[in-house]
Amino acid sequence: MGLIIEKLTLGMLETNCYIVADEISKSCVIIDPAWDGDKILKKISDNQWTLSEIWLTHAHFDHFGGLGKIMEVQPHIGLGLHSLDLDLYNDGGGSKNWGITIENNHQPNIFFDKTQKLNIDSKTIDVLFVPGHSPGHVAFFEPQSKTLFGGDVLFKQGIGRTDLEGGNYNQLIDSIKNKFLILPDETKVYPGHGLHTSISLEKTNNPFIF
Ligand SMILES: [Zn+2]
Ligand SMILES: [Zn+2]
Repeated sequence: MGLIIEKLTLGMLETNCYIVADEISKSCVIIDPAWDGDKILKKISDNQWTLSEIWLTHAHFDHFGGLGKIMEVQPHIGLGLHSLDLDLYNDGGGSKNWGITIENNHQPNIFFDKTQKLNIDSKTIDVLFVPGHSPGHVAFFEPQSKTLFGGDVLFKQGIGRTDLEGGNYNQLIDSIKNKFLILPDETKVYPGHGLHTSISLEKTNNPFIF
């Protein structure tokens, strides 16, 4: 039995939030609570899922704008981030440049530099360290179903920006080549923005990878 993936596209930057639930136990995690925390919570309760943890691919505000609302209701839930994105997180994730204030007093308590294996019930998820778009960017890979939640690293025929604070183009290309393109061709890629794709499609069609 597999994982159920629910995608919600939220906020002004149309960021993808994924709720990933175990089909049997109905335990779920949120990957990037992008915006509209109440919508995310409603989707979880409508499906009678139980939230176990929240994982951030990186600390840009459009990937955690819905966090405050969710943690108001579930203040003791585990929150995961890589330490190298902690400064960006505590600085509002770049929201100041947009004239936005994010209401969020919650600190991560799972650090992806120390925790490389995660669980959704009995399923094991690998944490991949893929810096370049941000210093502490991570991706989540489920080997059984060959599913990759890639954040803002690789898009359908695109790659992540590296002109934001902490961005590094060479690091990004390195992450894509050495962490993503080595995964099985049939791996499905669920990015932080836009449509899903696969490793084989991007190997052959992505003009930014050569
Ligand atoms: Zn980003
Ligand atoms: Zn983004």
